[in-house]
Amino acid sequence: MDSGMIGKIQKAKRYAQEPERIAFNEFKVTFRGNHDTYTVTYDEGQWGCGCNFFASHGVCSHTMTMERVLGVMLAPEEEAEPRKVEV
Ligand SMILES: [Zn+2]
Repeated sequence: MDSGMIGKIQKAKRYAQEPERIAFNEFKVTFRGNHDTYTVTYDEGQWGCGCNFFASHGVCSHTMTMERVLGVMLAPEEEAEPRKVEV
């Protein structure tokens, strides 16, 4: 392996420890729930899911799971929006 490639691999290892460098713009995943499989989509901060709960609430366990898994890699403008907190 040439030295250039070795340097790239070392850089990739370092980058992999810094997920905040990565921001998803859009994706589509297959989510295997306990009873069924759902398609979860994300497009510039807009979530989508095929489950019934999402249809009535605009959020569901599947989208919330993706938020937890991807964390800082989701669009920063969405993260910056203040969340409404019930007092
Ligand atoms: Zn769902």
